[in-house]
Amino acid sequence: MKNALLFDARARVLADLQAQQRATAAAVSALEDAVAQRKWWVEQWPEGETYIAGLVAQDVQDALFETAGRWPLCRDCDDEAPVHTLHIQPDLGGPDPVWVCEESGDVIAPLGGL
Ligand SMILES: [Zn+2]
Repeated sequence: MKNALLFDARARVLADLQAQQRATAAAVSALEDAVAQRKWWVEQWPEGETYIAGLVAQDVQDALFETAGRWPLCRDCDDEAPVHTLHIQPDLGGPDPVWVCEESGDVIAPLGGL
């Protein structure tokens, strides 16, 4: 059960990395680390499983920000707009995490649907 949730979270974040050609070895490694840490976390706090997928996405976003730059970039806004990113809503990571444009506030896609 828990493993299925973690597998689902991993698959969705990986799909969104691939959608933006960002699934580098380093990014996938950051994803594996995030999944491993959240596995431990949800074992301590089973009610947290609602938030797992969004939290893994945020963890990878933070890890990439420090090493490889911002992800995911918004491709929905006008070309004239300065480069900006999407963030997970709800902030807690769930339930039903979606990517929201930080500029327009529009929902761009569900997590895993970029
Ligand atoms: Zn945007």
